[in-house]
Amino acid sequence: MKLNFLGKGSAFYPVYGNTGAYFLYGKELYLIDCGETAFDHLYHLVDLDEIEKVYVILTHLHADHVGSLGTLISYFYCLRQMQVHVVHPEHTIVELLTLEGIDKKGYVYTERLPENGAGLTAEPVEVKHAADMKCYGYILSDGEDCIYYSGDSSALPEQVLAGFLEGKIGRIYHDTSTHDSPNPSHCFYGRLEQWIPAKERSRVFCMHLDSPCEELLKEKGFQIVEVVK
Ligand SMILES: [Zn+2]
Repeated sequence: MKLNFLGKGSAFYPVYGNTGAYFLYGKELYLIDCGETAFDHLYHLVDLDEIEKVYVILTHLHADHVGSLGTLISYFYCLRQMQVHVVHPEHTIVELLTLEGIDKKGYVYTERLPENGAGLTAEPVEVKHAADMKCYGYILSDGEDCIYYSGDSSALPEQVLAGFLEGKIGRIYHDTSTHDSPNPSHCFYGRLEQWIPAKERSRVFCMHLDSPCEELLKEKGFQIVEVVK
């Protein structure tokens, strides 16, 4: 499973685009999050007219993660008469889309990822990010490859760290911040350093960057996600 990143930035560092990723399986499009900059970027990267199925797996409802979802849904419904599959453990996404004028006929909402052509499974893991909103990371597996995608998260869940150190989870894609605070919303890189032994850091990919901090993170042994141009 190769994730193609549409962006690697945080909400307040739009230079790097909103963090999110996609992959194609034949004519099926799988998206993780759909932030404000996602639809525009995707439109220029993928021939959407060729796509026959779309799944969008959402981590949470902040605008830099769902900001162009309404447009994506409308595009496929109005121009292709196709319903995008929207996946999120919380029903609040339906309320948000309704307020945006997106009719329920325009998409299919499910709490969990339905069976799909790619054989992808997405196990949601609740993470710490915002006090007023439930947020999720996902353990994603296609039968060969198992990865963890954090979404926005200030901490690495214990079960994920254990699975990673045992080798059951091959790679971690994690929210990484250069700022620390007593009550963080994002994951200060110093915490990742504490949790991940140096020899395992090449399997950890930093995303949601709040500044050009790539060299600093690479010096610590971490990798950085690559954004598709
Ligand atoms: Zn957020």
